[in-house]
Amino acid sequence: MRRIAVIGGGVTGCSVAFHLAERGLGEVHLFERDQLGSGTTWHSAGNITWKPVDDNDSGVLYLLDLIARLEAETDLTSGWRRTGRLFLARDTQVLKSFEAFHRPAVERGFDAPMLSAREAGERHPLLDGSVLQGAWFNPLSGRVNPADLVALFARAARARGALVHEQAPVSGLKVENAKVSGVLSGGESLDFDDVVVCAGLWSQTLVEDHGITLAQGGCEHFYIILDVAPRLGPATPSFISPADLIYGREEVGGVLLGCFDEDALTLETADLPDPFSFSLLNENWDKFAPYFEGAAELFPAFATAPVRSFVNGPEAFTPDGNPFVGPAPGIGGLWLCTGMNSHGVTISGTSGHLIADFLEDVAPKFPPDIYEPGRFAGQADDKAWLKRRLSAAPSAFYRSTNPRAQSTRTGKA
Ligand SMILES: Cc1cc2nc3c(=O)[nH]c(=O)nc-3n(C[C@H](O)[C@H](O)[C@H](O)COP(=O)(O)OP(=O)(O)OC[C@H]3O[C@@H](n4cnc5c(N)ncnc54)[C@H](O)[C@@H]3O)c2cc1C
Repeated sequence: MRRIAVIGGGVTGCSVAFHLAERGLGEVHLFERDQLGSGTTWHSAGNITWKPVDDNDSGVLYLLDLIARLEAETDLTSGWRRTGRLFLARDTQVLKSFEAFHRPAVERGFDAPMLSAREAGERHPLLDGSVLQGAWFNPLSGRVNPADLVALFARAARARGALVHEQAPVSGLKVENAKVSGVLSGGESLDFDDVVVCAGLWSQTLVEDHGITLAQGGCEHFYIILDVAPRLGPATPSFISPADLIYGREEVGGVLLGCFDEDALTLETADLPDPFSFSLLNENWDKFAPYFEGAAELFPAFATAPVRSFVNGPEAFTPDGNPFVGPAPGIGGLWLCTGMNSHGVTISGTSGHLIADFLEDVAPKFPPDIYEPGRFAGQADDKAWLKRRLSAAPSAFYRSTNPRAQSTRTGKA
């Protein structure tokens, strides 16, 4: 029987293991060096943003259907809550650009109205509508609890025969004659026909001995949690203000407020403490302050709200904001699913499905070209270029509401 190893038990690896097992493609083994979700996934904000544009639309709708299906078959919940999301515009140009979402959404029968400034203010108890030109209400977006989504994928994968190994670090890949032949783990040499690398920030470490340089790298990425008054109900719509590079949502009555900062701080994965399970980076108020000020203009109550926590975690970004999903260049049987650009939860359905399509050798359900792993061949070795591009990546497409630009990304924030 075909044997398939999946390395990494974050939301990506667990989705991949589920999709492979569901297709019955072989004996699926997932290797997680610590506990499932212990890398970047556990501290994700868990937002899933739908947009009626290519590359986001069908993938997110598929994920939402999949979550509903898996929740129905297990006694687990992902924490999915459809709150809707307010897209806030402080100027007419931004407001006009939201038409590109509003029109196709309404054409498809969704209740997705453009809102006046007053109407937007009425939808969120802390929002000062007077500083807005207006907003678009996105009805399908919401959030999950990422750790619970991981557990859901893992349960569904196990139920289909996948074997999930925790405390099982993979120390290397076995490659013979440009073809993968297995992995090294726990002092053993294990044979596999296919290996899928889903190790997030740590993926490069696994492939570099085999001549592959991934154009991905870590950036500090953060949000804070505020204790606001009045406390918010769980159904309060989340929000995004693209021009301010901020997003937020309700979190246990308070507010989770995050940003996609300019000139993001890059980091070397090798410099992270080892192990880095369930760990965070230091608070960085200097970096967050400008975005907090912008948020407080929209939501005045934020200015005086006590800060419950500052969550700064590393995330893997790529130069064009898209992950690497597909065959590893030059090595048969080796597959990459990594570099999630702060939308790994949102894209988890798409990435898992695509990897299963590749391994089954069927037409991919979602267009794979933008995820092609070899697309930065040659450039990835230019460390200065890569660092510059990674530093720009978090904010690069966030301001843009141009559907062409949006269509190169998959549902940020
Ligand atoms: C502050 C913040 C907010 C975010 N908010 C959102 C959001 O709202 N919506 C959204 O969609 N995304 C969000 N993200 C992004 C999302 O969290 C990530 O894209 C996603 O969690 C990445 O998942 P992953 O499985 O690819 O990586 P990880 O979760 O890092 O998983 C990789 C796993 O591989 C394991 N591993 C590494 N090396 C080995 C090895 N040699 N052997 C075995 N196992 C190994 C690690 O232990 C880890 O568990 C956010 C990220 C951050 C930092």
